[in-house]
Amino acid sequence: MASLARKLRRENKTVGFVATMGALHEGHLSLVEEAGKMSDIVIVSIFVNPAQFGKNEDFDKYPRDLTADAALLADYNVDYIFAPNVEEIYQAGFSTYVYVEGLTETLEGEIRPGHFRGVATVVTILFNTIRPDFAFFGQKDAQQVAVIKKLTRDLGFDTEIVVLPIIREETGLAMSSRNAYLSEQERQAATIIYKGLKAAKSAVREGERNTVWLAEIVRQKIAEEPLAEIDYIAVVDNETLEPVDKIDDREILVAIAVRFGRVRLIDNTILNRKQ
Ligand code: AMP
Repeated sequence: MASLARKLRRENKTVGFVATMGALHEGHLSLVEEAGKMSDIVIVSIFVNPAQFGKNEDFDKYPRDLTADAALLADYNVDYIFAPNVEEIYQAGFSTYVYVEGLTETLEGEIRPGHFRGVATVVTILFNTIRPDFAFFGQKDAQQVAVIKKLTRDLGFDTEIVVLPIIREETGLAMSSRNAYLSEQERQAATIIYKGLKAAKSAVREGERNTVWLAEIVRQKIAEEPLAEIDYIAVVDNETLEPVDKIDDREILVAIAVRFGRVRLIDNTILNRKQ
């Protein structure tokens, strides 16, 4: 991959990069499509990164099907699929990790200690190997976006981070590889998440500015669904992830994590953005 990337740079080709863990769905494909529009060459990585999974998380059972993923990508303008094995990314004796201070202690970072260290480390390795001009990430993982933008700036990567909207099913459920774990009943129940987000968003449109109350609107809506167990509902600055009291001119994110049985889903929306 590194020597291919070197060759592409010598040929003055712009490279667009989409990092994934496979089990591809339309959310991933929206990133791939935009990468095709913005760059000469599109590289998609498929790597289930052990470093970002906690001990009791789903690393072993995370869905893996490279053949199906490659078949989906065949309909898109993808030049290379990079599917390294764990030993290629983490070579024997590996001991260097990237830790993004300040953004990784809250929300997902609080509940999943070490998760963002794993994400930041693998993204650094992938960026160093591929040296993309553009890298595409989904707003679905809003905290991940904030962390990757920060690490790109702090470590001086010459890569532009492009963030694309959350792709949802018709029911409003945000697409996620983990949706495959949901039973039919849980999948139906999980549509309450988007209803909660929409309720807060329409309250903002109608003039509500108090974020404590906005979080409460989301909480009440989700509480209507008996199968839903809320991990957190947070109203924060989309860039710094710091809690905010009032909706103002900054982009204000409401980020939520909800469990349905053993499946934990995250979702979010920017309250004061139209789409
Ligand atoms: P993952 O395979 O879960 O690591 O996700 C790879 C990339 O796809 C990340 O940038 C995610 O934010 C993005 N992604 C996952 N689900 C969605 C979605 N429903 N809409 C948009 N982007 C998504």
